Amino acid sequence: MKPVHIIGGGLAGCEAAFAVAHAGVPVVLHEMRPTRPTAAHRTGRLAELVCSNSFRSDDAETNAVGVLHRELRRLGSLVMRAADAHQVPAGGALAVDRDGFAEAVEAAILAEPLIEIAREEVTGLPPEEWGPTIVATGPLTSEPLAQSLLQLTGETSLAFFDAIAPVVYFDSIDFHVAWRQSRYDKVGPSGDAEAYVNCPMDREQYGAFIDALLAAEKTEFKEFEGTPYFDGCLPIEVMAERGRETLRHGPMKPVGLTNAHKPDTKAYAVVQLRQDNALGTLFNMVGFQTKLKYGEQARIFRMIPGLQNAEFARLGGLHRNTYLNSPRLLDARLRLKARPQIRFAGQITGCEGYVESAAIGLIVGRLTAAETLGRPLDPPPSTTAIGALINHICGGHIEAIDAGPRSFQPMNVNFGLFPPIAPAPEQKRLRGPERGLQRKRLLSARARVDLDGWAGVDFSAS
Ligand SMILES: Cc1cc2nc3c(=O)[nH]c(=O)nc-3n(C[C@H](O)[C@H](O)[C@H](O)COP(=O)(O)OP(=O)(O)OC[C@H]3O[C@@H](n4cnc5c(N)ncnc54)[C@H](O)[C@@H]3O)c2cc1C
Repeated sequence: MKPVHIIGGGLAGCEAAFAVAHAGVPVVLHEMRPTRPTAAHRTGRLAELVCSNSFRSDDAETNAVGVLHRELRRLGSLVMRAADAHQVPAGGALAVDRDGFAEAVEAAILAEPLIEIAREEVTGLPPEEWGPTIVATGPLTSEPLAQSLLQLTGETSLAFFDAIAPVVYFDSIDFHVAWRQSRYDKVGPSGDAEAYVNCPMDREQYGAFIDALLAAEKTEFKEFEGTPYFDGCLPIEVMAERGRETLRHGPMKPVGLTNAHKPDTKAYAVVQLRQDNALGTLFNMVGFQTKLKYGEQARIFRMIPGLQNAEFARLGGLHRNTYLNSPRLLDARLRLKARPQIRFAGQITGCEGYVESAAIGLIVGRLTAAETLGRPLDPPPSTTAIGALINHICGGHIEAIDAGPRSFQPMNVNFGLFPPIAPAPEQKRLRGPERGLQRKRLLSARARVDLDGWAGVDFSAS
């Protein structure tokens, strides 16, 4: 049987290789380190963690990444097995001894008779004769391969930096203060003149907000990240440094909007939020890409009227990150539409995080193996954490027509990506945080049942 080629022996590549081999299909895993290093990896080991040693919350009842842990364990994930075996104390989080973890993953890959490791850089698109190939080269994909991908996919389809604006859960916005309206009531292609959520500020509130931005702690760019301010994607705090009124003439301009609660009072500035996913559960803060520290973001953005109780599905950031415009380029099984023999996995698809990258690796491994064995498989349903993530990557995100080519941004798993669930009548009586927790428990319980159903499908060679 022809082997599946996997490029990149990081979290996604190792998980994919393990899944393919376990289905009885041979693998050639191409990893360029240590021959060719990246700017963030420090060793030649497979599955090296480049930064934090945390896999985040292990709470599978009320935390979406905890649900993802549970699903990965259920599916026999190599990354989770190694993480569980090399845990270090971290309260409710799953944190690992990074050396022990990487050694365990590498040892398992080396022990797998169906996996051959090729320690080499792949410097161009996989040749046609390779057949099924998974590209899992991560946020630091080497330059020659990235350039080849750029040529294949086009200028606007491969990004080298993410410019992430915070994303808010829709149901945490206070609509006694905020209101829905598109600027100048402009009707969009969907016939909607109320596409945006608007949060008004008076002169004092705006002044206090600018003061807070200027005083806030910022994260620095790492040396290898260079100076990635591009296409007018300036962080808001940099805009504020250029002049106190700059934001009011940029992303916070108040023109073309009438406050539905106080029609006679003109706002001094307005923060707009735009729908981020097809489900309508997540809204992003328009033009609010930022390098502020996470704690500062939550504190300062809750100063915005209407967002005083905001819950954030994702905070803002600006990083070196190679990733595809996946909703455009990939089909629902993560195949490149232009060359379906090539699949992508891990952070390069537009998920964010160690666990998410491993999860996409595992599923892409299974999908590839199933197809190679002539038993094509659908990804898990979008009611599961893995399915919700795939749905974000392959089409759940809304491509805003006025947001430029980079409107698709990487995302951690979060409950806002799951299709909503209706509470039972007795649960409707709950209020505040209890109600939110109950919703998460229901989403988690539904995910468990639906993932079990999917996991039961056998497609392996034996
Ligand atoms: C600096 C930095 C810090 C991060 N910190 C965190 C964090 O703290 N927590 C978190 O959850 N996520 C973090 N991330 C995001 C992300 O979760 C990790 O990058 C994660 O490792 C992605 O997994 P992956 O398998 O997609 O890529 P990687 O784990 O990076 O694996 C990709 C592999 O492909 C290899 N490769 C690249 N190009 C080629 C080529 N042409 N030929 C052969 N091999 C190639 C690389 O050497 C690497 O081993 C960080 C990302 C970066 C860049």
